[in-house]
Amino acid sequence: MRVSGQEGGAAGVWQWLVAVQRLRAVPAAYFHPTLDLAQAARGLGCDSGLVEELVRAGFPADETPEGLRFDYYDVMNLGLAAGLGRSLAEQYEQRCATMATGTPEDWSAQRSWRVRLGAPCTAPDCGGAIPAPPAPELLGGRLVEYQRSERNPNDAIAVVLTRGRQEQPRTDLVRRIHDELLTGLTTGRYQYSWLPDTLRLDPEAAAAHGMLDSGVAAWLMRRWALEAGLEVRTRKGYLLGLVGVEHAWAEVREQGRWLVLDPVLAFHALRRTPGGTDAAAAFAAFCQGSVHNHLLAWPGAANEPFTEHQCAAGGHIAYRCGRLPSATLARPVASMAGV
Ligand SMILES: [Zn+2]
Repeated sequence: MRVSGQEGGAAGVWQWLVAVQRLRAVPAAYFHPTLDLAQAARGLGCDSGLVEELVRAGFPADETPEGLRFDYYDVMNLGLAAGLGRSLAEQYEQRCATMATGTPEDWSAQRSWRVRLGAPCTAPDCGGAIPAPPAPELLGGRLVEYQRSERNPNDAIAVVLTRGRQEQPRTDLVRRIHDELLTGLTTGRYQYSWLPDTLRLDPEAAAAHGMLDSGVAAWLMRRWALEAGLEVRTRKGYLLGLVGVEHAWAEVREQGRWLVLDPVLAFHALRRTPGGTDAAAAFAAFCQGSVHNHLLAWPGAANEPFTEHQCAAGGHIAYRCGRLPSATLARPVASMAGV
């Protein structure tokens, strides 16, 4: 086997090969190979020669007259499975894991954020949509300001106040709904995956293939909670950071209060927190019922779009949310407390 110096030696190659064997690939009905060899290599953070090696080892690719073509989601999921820390998908996961640094007090404190929201359409000739305003009040925060951008009609600037909250389940039933999902991820019964839209919209099929993202996880927990006779809903929003990460979770009503169940976030932290087993465990416990102050909610359920858009050009809204440098800390946050 050719071992490229860029791959960090033979150990790296073996990790890639094991990941290919373990990978739960996008099912054939959803397979949509659009990436060429160079793009796949970029997504994985390795060189093209290694990607060809992985194809020979069974990584799904289409052979076309123009060369190999790969499914974007297979590339992302292989990067996650390899765990070498160099793929694009792992950089996103690392962003989620940074939410696990600090203490429960840090995660519960009141915070102020200035964010740019965007609702451009993927169809080049479409005017896109106006970003739907977030609803931080759903998690105990407040929308302080919301303005359309003057520069871009598909952008809005929002100032939000978020507030975390420490809670934990009091009943074994609710605890088990969270833990069942988390154990499913840590044991590999479910592969945390980036999913094509067609599969995300069919959570039953995704779960049947053993692949789930936060939206499918929320859908599964809702189903289990309903089977257990509990009141439950799903929500979606963003994990706030320099670049916001779209995220979904379940909320279960227990003894008169709503608890956020977010085992997918716990899983990201457990997988990515370097060496910090105690810290990651504390964070995982926090995800079992608490509200993190990086969590920004939108109204509606996990499977509903942020912004309605009937696109004449056949596109869809690529909603986004990113943090803006701001003078928010200079704002008189105290004056907004207690609202
Ligand atoms: Zn459109």
